[in-house]
Amino acid sequence: MATVIQHQLVHLLKTHFGYDSFLPNQLAIIEDVLNQRDVLAIMPTGGGKSLCFQLPALAMNGTTVVVSPLIALMKDQVDALCANGIAAAYYNSSQSPEIQQEIFGQLKKGELKLFYVAPESLGVFASLFKEINMGLFAIDEAHCISSWGHDFRPAYTQLNSLKEQFPNVPVIALTATADRTTQDDILEQLSLPKAKRHLASFNRPNLYLEVRPAQNRIKQIIEFIEARPDESGIIYCLSRKNTEKIAERLQDYGFIAKAYHAGMAPGNRAKTQEDFINDRVPIIVATIAFGMGIDKSNVRWVIHYNLPKNLEGYYQEIGRGGRDGLPAHTLLFYSFGDVAQLRKFISESDNAEVEYAKLQRMQQFAEALSCRRIALLNYFGEHLTESCGHCDMCNRPPKYFDATVLTQKICSAVVRLKEKEAMGTVIDVLRGAQNAQVYDKGLQHIKTYGAVKDISWQDLQQYMIQLLNQGVLDINFKESARIGLTPLAKQVLFEGKKVQLAVLEKEKPKVKRTVKRSAEKTGLFEKLRILRQEIAKEQGVPAYVVFGDASLKDMETKLPKTEAEFMEVSGVGQSKLERYAAIFLKTIAEHQVSLKPKVPTHEQSYQLFLEGLSISEIAKKRELKEDTIYAHLQRMHSEGEAINLSEFITTEEIDQVRDAQKQLVDAEGLKPYHEFFEEKMPYWKIRLALYMCSLYP
Ligand code: ADP
Ligand code: MG
Ligand code: ZN
Repeated sequence: MATVIQHQLVHLLKTHFGYDSFLPNQLAIIEDVLNQRDVLAIMPTGGGKSLCFQLPALAMNGTTVVVSPLIALMKDQVDALCANGIAAAYYNSSQSPEIQQEIFGQLKKGELKLFYVAPESLGVFASLFKEINMGLFAIDEAHCISSWGHDFRPAYTQLNSLKEQFPNVPVIALTATADRTTQDDILEQLSLPKAKRHLASFNRPNLYLEVRPAQNRIKQIIEFIEARPDESGIIYCLSRKNTEKIAERLQDYGFIAKAYHAGMAPGNRAKTQEDFINDRVPIIVATIAFGMGIDKSNVRWVIHYNLPKNLEGYYQEIGRGGRDGLPAHTLLFYSFGDVAQLRKFISESDNAEVEYAKLQRMQQFAEALSCRRIALLNYFGEHLTESCGHCDMCNRPPKYFDATVLTQKICSAVVRLKEKEAMGTVIDVLRGAQNAQVYDKGLQHIKTYGAVKDISWQDLQQYMIQLLNQGVLDINFKESARIGLTPLAKQVLFEGKKVQLAVLEKEKPKVKRTVKRSAEKTGLFEKLRILRQEIAKEQGVPAYVVFGDASLKDMETKLPKTEAEFMEVSGVGQSKLERYAAIFLKTIAEHQVSLKPKVPTHEQSYQLFLEGLSISEIAKKRELKEDTIYAHLQRMHSEGEAINLSEFITTEEIDQVRDAQKQLVDAEGLKPYHEFFEEKMPYWKIRLALYMCSLYP
């Protein structure tokens, strides 16, 4: 195979996919593949992995076979390829025999550039692949082959003989799994000892990272969604029951939201997923069962209602936001209740020690008081040197105050409670609560009862969490979450050690949402979205197969007027140009016109008059009566334009009308004049003469 040089690849990229440049690592990976090397590509979700085998498929002879774990995934990618005018098909066991035969035929004739198949069905093609010209094997979601990975799929293990059967066909394995053990295992399972590894940065700068304490979660979520009308988002939570409960609450508030979890009937689940992908349902409340194999590129926000059990899971889930590279907001709710619950789950697992450690890292991230992205990427072995400027900590760095006295009071309460009470009771005692819990145990008599009455319950809880994080307090999860002291606490109590705590952030003022909502509705983006939706519906494909949000945004910015300008839009290649340029250009042009202040009709006539057109020419052009054009010019004159009206009328005619006026004192309108002149003077002239008389009585 001839080496394809770089500018040819860039040309293919634009013509077929509509992009001007490669994303990080794409070019290097593609070049390796084209040089017949086996490759392991590790790129974050949304990093553009598909292109790493789709573009080589176009540049190579023969067919590229893509192994993909889910039918939905295959279908969407094939739809997207076909929309770009690329010959692609997928096979699965549920297709009709006729369709399956057709696919066999296409493969035999070498008509397909890309062929997608699930690992379960590979066997069906074993002999056919030997007969035809094979270009490349692409193993998507390759971590499924590893039992170390989080989505192990037994059928993937069939792939381990692939290299043996097709020693001369290069293999590219792709995954977003960052974990090194899994990476090694993938290559071992696939027997690709010499594969070149490409590890892309896991930084996803377009994801905004935010963590909030889990108080009034539902209320916070509703405000969050209300501020983002028409945006797609996912809310993850721990239990199936909760997904349903939250979805219902949101529906009560008028949002279109659906629950999704593994306990639902398969048909129902598939439908919910389809509805989400096709923008019919913008909000999904799901367990972590949701998301694998969803290529929806315009998820604009991801909320974690509960704390995930580790950072891998968290990162993968927030990674489903903003795959189109546009900003997406991620929000994690952090509660100690969740930590306690997760610890309980973990204590029942075989791998408890490792999982505890991972949970602890998750907690540390949630409690970070400096740049979240630094903390997150550290975990994945990437070390940012500068704060990201795009997370809650960078945006509103915490301020600190000297909390030594407060800490002493808290610690002393813990001592007097003999380190036997949970956080809630410690807070009650400190605030002097008068509830049964306190009275039953006689806690109103201890010395620190009511020592910090001036701090609210919630705030005090937040301060205690900070003290836990700083290692002043300790929490014993195994014994009903009792709060205890650490050696550090003793230094604070007895050795004058100082403590700094972060000042708590007060709730932000509410966004004025009604204004934003209506402003957005009139925007071009909204119109393009609607158009895209209509086209997608007609063609029976997800909306983003027509165009991604990024392309629509680019149209909104570039406002293309010609096909050449349309071709400049990101995501517009030759095929989409041919299919969609006309209709999108029309919508954009109409929008432009609707924005232009409408020129009043009399001014339009005057404009033509200034351009030198005669009255009859203007009338013809504007499809109006000449009478109307005269009236327009007269009106312009009355508005102060220097029009020589005496061009149209003689002084005798004006005098005649003046005389008529004296006789027709009570006349209303122009008709009496018209009759007076025995219909020999046209209406416009009478009107004009009366006007002149009023100017020069
Ligand atoms: P992954 O499989 O790594 O999660 P995808 O292959 O689904 O990511 O790509 C994510 C998004 O990025 C898609 O919308 C895709 O069209 C887009 N994309 C891929 N390559 C480029 C590029 N070179 N320029 C702009 N967008 C790209
Ligand atoms: Mg992918
Ligand atoms: Zn930051």
